[in-house]
Amino acid sequence: MKLITALFLTLSFTLSALAQTMPKDADPKLWDKALKIHRNAIIVDGHNDITGPMVDSDFNLGDSSVGKVQLGGDPMHTDLDRLKKSGITGEFMSIYVSGTTLKTGGSMRRAMDLIDATNREAERHNDLVTCTSANEIRQAKKRKQICLLMGIEGGYAIENSLYALRNFYRLGVRYMTLTHNVAHDWADAHRDIKHNGLTAFGKEVVREMNRLGMFIDISHVSEKVMMDVLDITKAPLMASHSGVRGVNDHTRNVSDAVLKRLPQNGGVIMVVFYPSFLDERTNREENERAARLKPQVDALRERFKDDQAGFVKAENELMAANPIYIADYKRIVDHIDHIKKVAGIDHAGLGSDYDGVPFLPTPMQGTEDLALVTYEMLRRGYSETDIRKVLGENLLRAMAQMEKVAGNRQISGQGSLKKLK
Ligand SMILES: [Zn+2]
Repeated sequence: MKLITALFLTLSFTLSALAQTMPKDADPKLWDKALKIHRNAIIVDGHNDITGPMVDSDFNLGDSSVGKVQLGGDPMHTDLDRLKKSGITGEFMSIYVSGTTLKTGGSMRRAMDLIDATNREAERHNDLVTCTSANEIRQAKKRKQICLLMGIEGGYAIENSLYALRNFYRLGVRYMTLTHNVAHDWADAHRDIKHNGLTAFGKEVVREMNRLGMFIDISHVSEKVMMDVLDITKAPLMASHSGVRGVNDHTRNVSDAVLKRLPQNGGVIMVVFYPSFLDERTNREENERAARLKPQVDALRERFKDDQAGFVKAENELMAANPIYIADYKRIVDHIDHIKKVAGIDHAGLGSDYDGVPFLPTPMQGTEDLALVTYEMLRRGYSETDIRKVLGENLLRAMAQMEKVAGNRQISGQGSLKKLK
């Protein structure tokens, strides 16, 4: 009897050590059950921007990021220790290329730098390994390793070249978000419409991605592009970090019309954690604050012209002195609920956007707090099977299906020769 009690205590201690924050109003028994499910599940997160600091500040994932900010002032959410606490097995590292490169050039070089930095971290740390397939993620879980996967964010990176797309596939890239916030030569973005969807070349990009076995990521694109992709693709698509319009009607989110087509397509909407995409009030108050404080921020920028760190500190102090309402982690599960209602539980996932956002839902501080989402799903009555689907199994299923569609093919030998002048 005593031995059993001791074992139980040891077990719950180990489980509790997984996450940092237990909600104040949590039922401790349910919390322990949630942590057990969380620890056993394969968890795949669709989007992480720690790659920026890895290149721009030579950030080593072995160093603590707790309490630190990026060059631009946003808080850091990820390091190796925090990743281990998160329970994540597959983390999609964002190969993010800004739309400003359309004017400045250098998009492909930026993507190359980010890919190398991702490999650098996997080579430095035995707990990390680069992965490119659903099976490799499953194998890594058995070895208690964390997979770094790669997804390009912003189709600018291929510089209108399917030849480049194929080489990105060779380097391990397994999704491409077709645009970021601005349209380019072959696709529209959510707030920048130029072509009314995908152009003929854009459709060829989608077909080539199907042929290679690379996810088409519909986060950031316009609704018409999403529909065009659904018309063409033979493989499941993904939204690597988006919410749903049924909960918050934001252009970055996915409509019910798109959700209704997912059962046929097999794709997964990986729910973003950015409170302004999750919640109408947070979005409104953040926009109002930005407009109201713009003269002061401009003045600070002028004052700290040659002192980026000084500017960041002063700007963060100004924001802290003007707080806004920030939605909590339960709002993430409102979006999962809506996907479940409209498309079915097989089409929901998690796509945090860690290190790509100015704040996370309260009281989340970083990757280590991911178990809050598992707890909230359990509290709402989700079965263990359904929780595991959302945490990672849906993405693994879609990825395996995508790999099957690609099958055995020559990467370049059978590649499309279509060119955009
Ligand atoms: Zn993004």
